[in-house]
Amino acid sequence: MKKTGSLDTFRLIAAFLVIANHTSPLLSYGETADFILTRIIARIAVPFFLMVSGYFLYKYIKNGDNAYILSFCKKIALLYALSILLYLPLNLYAGHYETVNLGREFLKDLFFDGTFYHLWYFPGLILGVMIVAFLVRKIGLKFTFFISLILYVIGLFGDSYYGMTETFSSLEAFYEAVFTLSDYTRNGVFMVPIFLVLGMLIYKGNNMIPFQRNLLFFVISFSLLILEGLLLHALKLQRHDSMYIMLIPAMYFLFISLLQIRGKSSKDLRSISTIMYIIHPWIIVLVRFAAEVVNLEKWFIENSLMHFIGVSFLSLAAARIITLVWKRRNNATPPPTGRAWAEIDLQALRKNATQLKGVLPEKTKLMAVVKANAYGHGAVRIAKELSDSGINSLAVATLAEAIELRRNGIKCDILILGYTPAQSIRIIKKYNFTQTVIGLEHAKELNKHAVSINVQIKIDTGMHRLGTDASQLAELKEIYQCQHLNVVGVFSHLAVSDSLDKDDIAFTNRQIDRYNQTIQWLETQQLPVGHQHIQASYGILNYPHLQYDYARAGITLYGVLSQNDRVLTNVELKPVLSIKARVAMVKTLHPGEALGYGRAFTAASTMKTAVITIGYSDGIPRNMANGHVLIRSQKAQVIGRICMDQLLVDVSGIEGVQADDIATLIGRDGSQQITAEDVAESCGTITNDLLSRLGERLGYVYKV
Ligand SMILES: *Cc1c(COP(=O)(O)O)cnc(C)c1O
Repeated sequence: MKKTGSLDTFRLIAAFLVIANHTSPLLSYGETADFILTRIIARIAVPFFLMVSGYFLYKYIKNGDNAYILSFCKKIALLYALSILLYLPLNLYAGHYETVNLGREFLKDLFFDGTFYHLWYFPGLILGVMIVAFLVRKIGLKFTFFISLILYVIGLFGDSYYGMTETFSSLEAFYEAVFTLSDYTRNGVFMVPIFLVLGMLIYKGNNMIPFQRNLLFFVISFSLLILEGLLLHALKLQRHDSMYIMLIPAMYFLFISLLQIRGKSSKDLRSISTIMYIIHPWIIVLVRFAAEVVNLEKWFIENSLMHFIGVSFLSLAAARIITLVWKRRNNATPPPTGRAWAEIDLQALRKNATQLKGVLPEKTKLMAVVKANAYGHGAVRIAKELSDSGINSLAVATLAEAIELRRNGIKCDILILGYTPAQSIRIIKKYNFTQTVIGLEHAKELNKHAVSINVQIKIDTGMHRLGTDASQLAELKEIYQCQHLNVVGVFSHLAVSDSLDKDDIAFTNRQIDRYNQTIQWLETQQLPVGHQHIQASYGILNYPHLQYDYARAGITLYGVLSQNDRVLTNVELKPVLSIKARVAMVKTLHPGEALGYGRAFTAASTMKTAVITIGYSDGIPRNMANGHVLIRSQKAQVIGRICMDQLLVDVSGIEGVQADDIATLIGRDGSQQITAEDVAESCGTITNDLLSRLGERLGYVYKV
């Protein structure tokens, strides 16, 4: 893909030049200056637009992609049609169609001259594209170039060089005939093809000329262009002033120079320049009208430069607004609370972090675990909030999770807790992540690539999941010998810190002892240990006295426990997340009628049921079928099977339930509350499981 962003930027400049062409900015300061600017310099604008079209269309023309060319012409025709309508009031006001030959005039305008002075560009472009597409396919690009050149020369003598034509009567007769069809030779036949072809030649060529030389050629040809224009003007040869000989080399070198600048492409800029082109004559009218109304003619009409600036600024502003409105219309996204959503209470999150910090020793910092989309809470937003509230260390499970955070501007230290294959080591380095070394093999693989990264060594103190066994000191030492791995921490994980059973407490204490011994040994070996940490949420709540650098808080940060457990520390956690959905419709179920898949529920007596807009693909466990939701602050029992996108509840006892009512699946509604722990328990699982499975389809609403 070629980088063509500078073309987009120049389109904007070209749009301003077209406005200059129609407002004569320098007229108040001198006629010659204005002639140079508007009748010579500004004449590069339209050829530039044409070259851009040629540049991007060539591929399709060459490949015989008629459908594409046709759809391009259709798009231009549509723009033209809209523009015709847009300017109809001005045409009528100016009495443009009060002539005898109304039909002929109109056809002439429609196909060649444009129904308003600047609109000739659209029929010109369509006609030119058709001519060039036809010729390129019949005779190839090179011969098309020569034919286009001949057409341009014919055009020249009906335009800037018309004075010479007039001296030959037979020639003059030819041009008179041309002018009965089209007011100028500046049209789709004589002027457009050559610039389309120039764009195509540049697309096809490899343009290896160095930038400086190109720029020099441009400056020379551009200076000659100005000279040419001034000369023709002085000799009074011009009938019109759109076409010059030097315009061709000047445009060629300008375009190549722009391509060499590259730059980022912007669809917005492209749209803005097109809209400015279309609307600026209306803006001229409006500026004149407004200036008269507020008595500022002196400023905005009589002073040509101010007039130009006013029109330019308003055209740009209007075009920007139109693109924004258009974008909003096209990007219309449904409101997050329309169907099923998670409400995230960020104040509760901050409170929980403070509470957890409060039970830990002064020196122990929180490492916030935001894996699995921050346990279903939205990783980027949660990470931002925590980072803003002073937490500078995050943990995730996977490389992809880490990347998502970095790409969204999270600057914290990010520790990847899980296994990452060594082949991704450059990504780890690029984003400055810290990777967990899960064992000696892993360390060696990572080291092989000779890319230095930060790592933390995981020690297995009894969980027997990831990590180097705490007793394998030789292996540990070998990990330290991997010269490309910069060890910034050594950590372990507790297997039963949630249990208050005597045996489990003894087991946890043994894990802690092993960890401490390993750390001590490393220190006696003078190996850098870096950050130490072993506690996760339950480690914090049941072993708060431990004096390590970090504690890795996951589930408790979100204000819930894994299940309805007793813990040794008194902290006031506040649930961060609520899950809500809508009532879609209410129905009556008669005795004996069954409902839902499998006819799993049959009504014993007449009842009122409601369809709720959330299902198992949103993360509601399919086996929550015995649970309930809250509607109008009352419990409504789930009945029948939970579906992918919906579930059914009994609302017989609830007054006034109607479509669009809110159903709370987790969270508070009035005096009633459903906790994540209760839902998890009723589904035979833990909250970590329940929350981390919340579906991508949920809307998210953050309360700050
Ligand atoms: C998930 C995870 C945590 C966080 O656990 P919680 O119980 O949710 O606090 C901490 N450490 C490791 C290694 C983990 O995988």
